[in-house]
Amino acid sequence: CYILAIESSCDDTSAAVLYNEKILSNVVASQKIHEAYGGVVPELASRAHQQNIVPVVHQALAKANIDKKELSAIAFTRGPGLMGSLLVGTSFAKSLAYGLNIPLIEVNHMQAHILAHFIEEAEYEKPTFPFLALTISGGHTQIVKVKSYFDMEVIGETIDDAVGEAFDKSAKILGLPYPGGPLIDKYAQEGNPKAFPFTKPKVAGLNFSFSGLKTAIMYFVQNNVKEDPDFIEKSLNDICASIQYTIINILVDKLKKAVKETGIKQIAIGGGVSANSGIRASLKEGEKRFGWKTHIPKFEYTTDNAAMIAIVGYFKYLENDFADENVAAKARYHL
Ligand code: ATP
Ligand code: FE
Repeated sequence: CYILAIESSCDDTSAAVLYNEKILSNVVASQKIHEAYGGVVPELASRAHQQNIVPVVHQALAKANIDKKELSAIAFTRGPGLMGSLLVGTSFAKSLAYGLNIPLIEVNHMQAHILAHFIEEAEYEKPTFPFLALTISGGHTQIVKVKSYFDMEVIGETIDDAVGEAFDKSAKILGLPYPGGPLIDKYAQEGNPKAFPFTKPKVAGLNFSFSGLKTAIMYFVQNNVKEDPDFIEKSLNDICASIQYTIINILVDKLKKAVKETGIKQIAIGGGVSANSGIRASLKEGEKRFGWKTHIPKFEYTTDNAAMIAIVGYFKYLENDFADENVAAKARYHL
């Protein structure tokens, strides 16, 4: 079957066409407008989605080389995300499904970040159940025990900031543009991760906390800049490496704990932060040191994209799990 999927939960407008488990197209229009504001401005995001949605869907169909009349179903991100953004994709998907008289499938964005691992890719070995998913993105930080496609249990999550926020807010303190995560990654590669030790937060169980780290980094930078106004410029690589090292340690510590508690040694990462080179390297190291088996998806399927929405749509299609015609977007939508 052919599924068209639409993703508009945050600041990327995306559409993908899937044929069974294979992606035929995955078009993403990122919104540059937010860079100037140092973060996503919801009002601007929804307007940009409205402008982008039709051209993006057009392109996705053209790239897949199919006509909309050949589609079997429309899948869309129902939540979680920004309400104004979700409304654009939801309304568009509903209208198109109604117009074409084909089923509509609602998808949870966080479930999609996890099931992205099941997109058919030549050189990629899919995880087997059960596995642990570490979802690290701009809005979420979760460890999920995945028992089957639709049986997932959140066993740990952040009690304040998400890990992507920790990267982006740290970058902002250093005067770097938004989103700063990839820049911290870039500078960290040239720096000494042990140059500046930051204390790790103490959080019970498998939960995370990143807001204390952000404050610690802020005071650390302020104090050093007082002594030497050129501190950031001189030590940027070392500061970034130290921040990244601390964040990775926090994540790996909790993963070790989760593996111990569940007995599951298979780990799949997802979400935009899984693009981070340090995290990727640490997981690979975990394979050697702790006997983990790790899964790192293709980069384009880690950040927000409609391909991951399409694969969930496909699994739901197989189960005849369709949305009601009065389905509405859901900004807070738990796994
Ligand atoms: P959610 O999926 O929770 O709704 P989101 O859609 O905003 O959040 P993603 O697009 O999955 O999040 O990820 C974006 C985040 O990933 C940003 O915080 C960005 O800084 C971070 N990020 C991307 N690449 C890297 C990298 N190489 N190193 C660290 N962080 C990165
Ligand atoms: Fe996301």
